[in-house]
Amino acid sequence: MSSVLEIIPLGGIGEFGMNCMAVRYGDEMLILDAGMGFPEETAYGVDVCIPDFDFLEEYRDNITAIVLTHGHEDHLGALPYILKKFNVPVYCSHFTAGLAETKLEEHDLTGDTLIHRVEPRDVVDLGIFTVEFIRVSHSLVDCFSLAIRTPVGTIIHTGDYKVDETPVIGEPIDLRSFRRYGQEGVLALLSDSTNATVPGRTPSERAVIPAFEEIFAEARGRIIVSAFASSIHRIQIVLDVAQQFNRKVCVLGRSMQKNVEVADRLGYLDIPDGLLVSLNQIKDLNDLEIVMLVTGSQGEARAALSQMATQMYKGVTIEEGDTVVLSARIIPGNERLISRMIGNIYKRGANIIEEKRRLIHVSGHAAQEDIRIMTEAVRPKYVVPIHGEYRMLFRHKEFVKNHLGFAEDNIILIENGDVLELDGERAMIVNKKEIGRTFIDDSGFEEIDSETVRQRKQMAYEGLVTLVITIDSNTGELQAQPEIVTRGVRGFDSSNGLLREAQMVVASAIAGASRETLRDESLLKEHVRVELKRFIQKLTGSRPVIMPVLVQV
Ligand SMILES: [Zn+2]
Repeated sequence: MSSVLEIIPLGGIGEFGMNCMAVRYGDEMLILDAGMGFPEETAYGVDVCIPDFDFLEEYRDNITAIVLTHGHEDHLGALPYILKKFNVPVYCSHFTAGLAETKLEEHDLTGDTLIHRVEPRDVVDLGIFTVEFIRVSHSLVDCFSLAIRTPVGTIIHTGDYKVDETPVIGEPIDLRSFRRYGQEGVLALLSDSTNATVPGRTPSERAVIPAFEEIFAEARGRIIVSAFASSIHRIQIVLDVAQQFNRKVCVLGRSMQKNVEVADRLGYLDIPDGLLVSLNQIKDLNDLEIVMLVTGSQGEARAALSQMATQMYKGVTIEEGDTVVLSARIIPGNERLISRMIGNIYKRGANIIEEKRRLIHVSGHAAQEDIRIMTEAVRPKYVVPIHGEYRMLFRHKEFVKNHLGFAEDNIILIENGDVLELDGERAMIVNKKEIGRTFIDDSGFEEIDSETVRQRKQMAYEGLVTLVITIDSNTGELQAQPEIVTRGVRGFDSSNGLLREAQMVVASAIAGASRETLRDESLLKEHVRVELKRFIQKLTGSRPVIMPVLVQV
């Protein structure tokens, strides 16, 4: 058994989302977070992707537990999929467990899964590893960093964090525990890079309260606030300010309703009696008494806000006089969707307030001065930037080198699949594993392989050709003219003579086929497919998906 610690990111390094990491010593392994991400191939029926957990197959008997830092989708969303493959216990906070359970229910997994709820400063022995859960501040509640004692030294995984000394809900970040580890000695700090390009400190969650108060004071109609469903601090602020201005709150959108329900049930939200109203109840209120808290800040077509902006959402549309508050940042890639939605909201005569115009959103991630506070508290030997696109990881490295005095060799930039080996003395990337990603079909919870996505993409760009050939099962002779139907193929349809020529190409391919080919259905299909493909590509430049169907009579 080797006496080195291996850190292997399965996702979340050099990309936004899909955070997941394996930590291995000898024949024991912990999985830290199991997040989902958002693939670029959204147009092909794929909404989300998850790490390719097949890589873990060779360690099947070694995985001790899955430890979750917090409940955001990019840390939690892949949990059902990894649990279906490896049924190991899960350790997380109460709130994360609440979100995890609703997710596991959707996958019918609640009966089989053991979730251990832990408190801040709990220390749990997980085989050779000892994990302490350290409270950090973030846009969500009940979030942890992980201090993991290993035989070669302690590593600290920050999870997502910012240094918020005045959060809306719960206690501030537990810097004292980080300093305690710093005094003891920390081998490596794996640290959130999402905001490493941003100078200064990230404002407290409280910083948005004045702007909300102003907006509520100015509004002359209904107020519609759209935020991330997971922004529990923000939701509490909207509830508080609504109460202060004698408005009632109607929560719309499935994920918003679910998160409010979980946070309320577990005691994280403070909701005065009678503050929340249903859609039916708002019909009896006048506009100045109404706040709607809705999903859809990213312009998602199926979310409440987009639908209210273009058509009815459960009987509600945006109207003249409404004030719409977009209390969220733009996730890269969503700019066009959001811009279109904002246009639709203006068309309806509503006023819209975006992040750029008022302080209605603050980030949940550490900016450079937060990174300074964390790094100086922990005083690690090595800094390993995690969570973020490569640009952010690189700037994290630059900041730590130029402003915190770390030597180049003590800052390690890793990528997904890298095996970072630490033996207490040195740290180096010794290997790279091929770790892909798995797509999840947006119709539900089905995994689909990358070949399927590739075919969908090819059909979308190049079109589809079906080819029906009818042959005599004894002689292998063509019994009828080959039937060719095309859909969406550029320069190749019934309007020109190419279809006729293509039929002849297929006929001569069959006539020229060897006896073996004619006897074997799959060989024959492949033979005509290749011939037809060559013909179409040569004459039109198109490379459609070709689907041969063989009828034997
Ligand atoms: Zn997060």
